[in-house]
Amino acid sequence: MKKPNKIQTILSVASCKLIRAVLRKTGRGGTALPGTVAMKISKNILSVPAGDMEIVVVTGTNGKTTTCNMIEHVLTEAGHDCHRDKSGANLLHGITSDLLCDTNWLGKPRNHYAVLEVDEAALKQVVPLIRPRAIVVTNLFTDQADRFGGVENTLREIRKGIKRSPESVLVLNADDTQSSSLGLGVPNKVIRFGLEESVGEQGKVDLFDAGKCPKCGGDYEYDYHIYAHLGGFRCPKCGYRREKPDVAVTSIGRMDTNGSTFQLSTDGVSQEVYVSLPAVYNVYNAAACIGAIKAMGLPVPEAVQGLANVRSAFGRMETFSLGENILQMILVKNPAGCNQAFTYVTSFKDKFNAVLCLNNRTGDGHDISWIENTDYEKLCTDPYLQKLYVCGDKKEALFDRLKRAGADESRMELVTEYDKLVEKLEKETCTTFLLPNYTAMMELRAALSPKTGSRDFWE
Ligand SMILES: [Zn+2]
Repeated sequence: MKKPNKIQTILSVASCKLIRAVLRKTGRGGTALPGTVAMKISKNILSVPAGDMEIVVVTGTNGKTTTCNMIEHVLTEAGHDCHRDKSGANLLHGITSDLLCDTNWLGKPRNHYAVLEVDEAALKQVVPLIRPRAIVVTNLFTDQADRFGGVENTLREIRKGIKRSPESVLVLNADDTQSSSLGLGVPNKVIRFGLEESVGEQGKVDLFDAGKCPKCGGDYEYDYHIYAHLGGFRCPKCGYRREKPDVAVTSIGRMDTNGSTFQLSTDGVSQEVYVSLPAVYNVYNAAACIGAIKAMGLPVPEAVQGLANVRSAFGRMETFSLGENILQMILVKNPAGCNQAFTYVTSFKDKFNAVLCLNNRTGDGHDISWIENTDYEKLCTDPYLQKLYVCGDKKEALFDRLKRAGADESRMELVTEYDKLVEKLEKETCTTFLLPNYTAMMELRAALSPKTGSRDFWE
C-alpha cells in the first residue's frame, strides 16, 4: 500500500476540513463528500491518522452503534482520549471524512484511541488502511437492507475483511452460530463473549439465520436458547459446538427499564456488572465491549465501572419527555431487532402505547417483506398495549400486517404526518415506545426535536 507523501497529506486533509466546514454552514452534516474528495487527492489517506492510533472496529447486524458507544464511554471514563464518529458514517468515504477532520493539518490524530462502526461489506476496504487492534462482530442476522444477500453473503464479506487484517484480535459472539464461525481457520487471536445460560422467555425461537455446521453441514441442536439462533448450539453429527466464552455472563439478576445487573466472568475473576441500558441484547453489547477492552490489553475492572453510566445512542433506547409522557425510541430495522424490542416493551406489565413507523427508502432497504417474518403477534396481543399508531411510507402495508397479527382495530390509528403524531402523543398519559426504522427515525426525531429539545445528530 502506497503511503501518501507530505504534500498529498496536507492537500487532502485541508480539502476534507474545508468542504466539511462549508457543508455544515449550509446545514448538511452527515455526508461522505469531504472524504470522497480527500481520497481523490490521496487514495490511502485514511492510513495516515490511523497509523498513529489504536482502533477498534465494530461490525455485525444489530448493536453496532450501542457497542461503539459503550467502548468509547468506558475508554473515556478510564481517562483515555478516544475518537468516536457521531454522524453514523460506516462506509469508507464517510469514515475517512470523519477521522481526517479530527486531525491537525499534517494528518496527526488528536486522539490515541478510536472506535469505528464499520458496515459489514465495507470492512474489507477499511481494515487494510487502519490496521485495527480489534474487530468486534456483534451478531449476524438477516437484515432488511441485505435481504437478497442473506447472512451467508454477509459472513463472506466479513471474512474478506478479516483475511486482510490477520493481526487484529477478533471479538466474536460465542452464542451466535454465524459470527462465532468467523474464528475458525484464521491466524487471528480470538476472544469470545456470550451468555452461559438461558435468561427466561425471550420470544419465539427462530433458527432462520442459524445456518449449518461449518465442519460437516449438519443442523444444529441447542442445549438452551437466548433468542433467535443465539444460544448453546452444538452439531450432533460431528460434535462441533459453541466455544466457551472468554468473557462470560454467568447469570442475570435484575432487569428493568433503566438497565440490567449481571455476573461477568473473565480470566477466572467473577464480578457484578451494572449496565445502564435495558434489555438482554444490551447485556450482549456490554459483554462485547468488555471483549474489546480485553483485546486492547486494558484492565477489565475499570471498564466494568464505566458501563454503569453509559448513555443511550441516538435512537437506541433514547428517552425523551413530551409533556407528562415518557417516550422511548428503539430503532428497529430487521426481524431479529424488532422481535427483541417487542420482548422488551412487553416485559414491563404496565400500560403502554406503541408507534410503529415503516419506510422503504434506500437507507432502509426497499423490500419490506421482512415484516411477514416478524413476531408482531407478541406486541399486538399484549394486554397492556393501549394505542397503536402506525406511520411512514409503508403504513398501509404495516397496518394490514398488524391487523393480521391480532391487533384490535379500535385501538389502531394511521397517521400521515409526524407533526400530527407528535400532537397526539402530547395528549397521551402512559409510556410510549417509538419503533421506527432508519429513515422514519430521522423524520420522527426531526418532528420531536422542537418539543423535546433534542439536537441534530452531528452537533
Ligand atoms: Zn457438524
